[in-house]
Amino acid sequence: MELAEALGRLFDTIPVLRDTETVAVTDARGRYLAADVKAPVDLPPFPASAMDGYAVNRTDIDRSQGDGLTRVGVSRAGHPWDGTLAPGQCIRIFTGAKVPAGADQILLQEEVAEDSGDRVRFKAHQPAETYVRPIGHDVARGQLVASRGDRAHPMLQGALASAGISKIDVVAKPRVGVFSTGDELVDPGMPLGEGQIYDSNRLAVINLLAALPVEVVDLGRLPDDESAVRAALEAASADCNVLITSGGVSVGEADFITATIAALGELEFWRLNLKPGKPLAFGRVGECFVYGLPGNPVSTIVTFLLVAKPAVAHLCGARDSVPRRFEARLAAPLSHSPGRAEYQRGRFQHAEQGLEVRVTGDQSSNRLSAFREANCLIEVPGPAGDLPAGSVVQVIPFDGLLA
Ligand code: AMP
Ligand code: MG
Repeated sequence: MELAEALGRLFDTIPVLRDTETVAVTDARGRYLAADVKAPVDLPPFPASAMDGYAVNRTDIDRSQGDGLTRVGVSRAGHPWDGTLAPGQCIRIFTGAKVPAGADQILLQEEVAEDSGDRVRFKAHQPAETYVRPIGHDVARGQLVASRGDRAHPMLQGALASAGISKIDVVAKPRVGVFSTGDELVDPGMPLGEGQIYDSNRLAVINLLAALPVEVVDLGRLPDDESAVRAALEAASADCNVLITSGGVSVGEADFITATIAALGELEFWRLNLKPGKPLAFGRVGECFVYGLPGNPVSTIVTFLLVAKPAVAHLCGARDSVPRRFEARLAAPLSHSPGRAEYQRGRFQHAEQGLEVRVTGDQSSNRLSAFREANCLIEVPGPAGDLPAGSVVQVIPFDGLLA
């Protein structure tokens, strides 16, 4: 199965989490909105001056440059002048202050020729614009400020605050449990025995999940023992909305994840046309969605980013969770045997002709070290063979993936 088809099936299968909660806009960063939000007021709520200067009526422009106008008051931000401007009059006004009735033009303070007593006379000039922000200039009352499926980010939070909104409804945080599997694994910080390696996947997945609005549950490590795996998945699936495991999805003797998902629930597919990460189990146990990621550390991370993460983001209410790609030119040749679409670790940089990218060393799926210098994944289409320098490829920058 191709990645795009797998994602399509996941988005079709997985509903957005039904539970919602109301949170303060201040605390909403990273959450997905559960409902549209409309402006309860016009923004600005009154005609506002965009500059420091004098509020006048446009029909008085000639007069303002001839005899001048009579200054009758001042309007400051938060301290409006409540009168109505009569012909021949002006008021002093500042940025953000209310433009009074009878005025429709701001003359800039830089254009003042003479200011004595209550007379203000302006230089001969044609104002470039009115410098008046009409009511609803930013957003009119009833207009959308944010839509369901939007992700709250600082600018959106600012826009909500500017409309006076202090609380919003967001999709609840799903509980996502993370297991690693394998008798060979030891926690970092402990001594290594013969034939043992450190468990890196659980920590990597837990920290990659930090980019999503989820409640992460560290479920520890499962031994390569069928009944232990079964008991653990059964208990965890009753407590979590999503389970993510790594390892144990190949066809080796100690690979129990796939069979256990099938025994406890439904297994939907498990072979992706993807490198690294061909074996990947997706299934459902009760109400819980289970992703059995492959065990090789690079495969775990790549399949998490390309498959599990967009699907979990969809559950969280995201409208569009497929990672963005950019075009870049290969600065050095890249080798690929036709077959599976491959995601190589690469480093892009800006060059004279735009973005260029090169592969960061040996691409074996156990080599986390290839990530060290990398800042992106390079997407190599399945049918492609070796690509010469200069070929245009798609890259997926880590920046967007980790946020
Ligand atoms: P498996 O699919 O369980 O056979 O795992 C494939 C490879 O990934 C093996 O070399 C495992 O030792 C390794 N591996 C599996 N899980 C982890 C983990 N949590 N951390 C580091 N390496 C792992
Ligand atoms: Mg294993």
